[in-house]
Amino acid sequence: MKVTEHLTRADGKTLFSFEVLPPKKGENIQNLFSNIEPLMEFKPPFIDVTYHREEYVYRQHPNGFLEKKTVRKRPGTVGICAAIKNRFDVDTVPHLICGGFSKEETENALIDLHFLGIDNVLALRGDPIKSEGHFKPDPDGHAYAADLIGQVANLNKGEYLDEEQDDTWATNFCIGTAGYPEKHFESPNYGADLRYLKHKVDRGAEYIVTQMFFDNEQFFNFEKRCRNAGITVPIIPGLKPLTTKSQLTMLPRSFYLNLPEELADAVQLAPDNAAAREIGIEWCINQSKELMAHGVPCLHYYSMGKSESIRRVAAALF
Ligand code: FAD
Repeated sequence: MKVTEHLTRADGKTLFSFEVLPPKKGENIQNLFSNIEPLMEFKPPFIDVTYHREEYVYRQHPNGFLEKKTVRKRPGTVGICAAIKNRFDVDTVPHLICGGFSKEETENALIDLHFLGIDNVLALRGDPIKSEGHFKPDPDGHAYAADLIGQVANLNKGEYLDEEQDDTWATNFCIGTAGYPEKHFESPNYGADLRYLKHKVDRGAEYIVTQMFFDNEQFFNFEKRCRNAGITVPIIPGLKPLTTKSQLTMLPRSFYLNLPEELADAVQLAPDNAAAREIGIEWCINQSKELMAHGVPCLHYYSMGKSESIRRVAAALF
């Protein structure tokens, strides 16, 4: 079932969802299942599975030439989505990115997803890989998420890349997109960021999931700006309980976000990571309660590979 159908059926009740990372190469799917299992009691209608790009390494040959080799660190998102769907009888939302994909490869991934009965995709641009200074699209790929959304929307009309339009081949994907309460780091200003977000919705995105934030005012202001700009689709806040002291610097560095002084000071003063984690969980519970009271359709949690803190947050709420 589509994410938007789940939101409509909830009839005003706030839903609980979360995202997981594909396990590292060499790990067993059982590890992933064990991470998901404790969260199933909170009845998530859907689970997101992120996509992680390949990296490049250079191998030197005896003649001195350097050969560029692709290294894949995590197994594919499509297969993992199908495995989770079958194991837990839950809808899955694969993240689809522009980076590293030609349009043809994207089309093939979408054909596989459709065949597997997966009704949702979260369409993203993706970040630059470590060896790139800035994002570079595949020579035959998309530069922006809006164009990827356009491709999925075309497939929903039966428009494939190199074939005549045929309604009997039409897919029926529900397309989600990313939004940034604190602005995407490459956008010159909030206004430009919002125009690009509106463009993604106009091309076919049916709901927005936000980057994580720790200050609800950021979300409320973002939501207001979206509504004033004519963006009417559901907006799902993304949250993460802070779990270690080192995340005080890692989260702003990786996700270009601000941590409120009150939270940052408390975590800084915490004697150890166990104490920091308790502070992070309590903060996240309070954030979630306020967002529920505000009437958000769903609370979406970033697990970043670990589910125990999310289980604690969900247990206090659902
Ligand atoms: P876009 O919407 O394409 O925007 C990228 C930048 O370009 C923005 O600054 C935007 O304002 C600007 N822009 C857009 N259109 C134009 C235009 N026409 N002209 C000029 N500028 C333009 N990354 C992963 O690799 N894998 C994941 O699984 C993943 N999951 C995510 C889930 C969520 C909920 C979020 C919020 C992010 C996720 N990311 C993931 C990170 C995301 O890929 C990065 O933040 C990326 O830098 C931007 O992706 P986007 O889809 O928002 O890009």
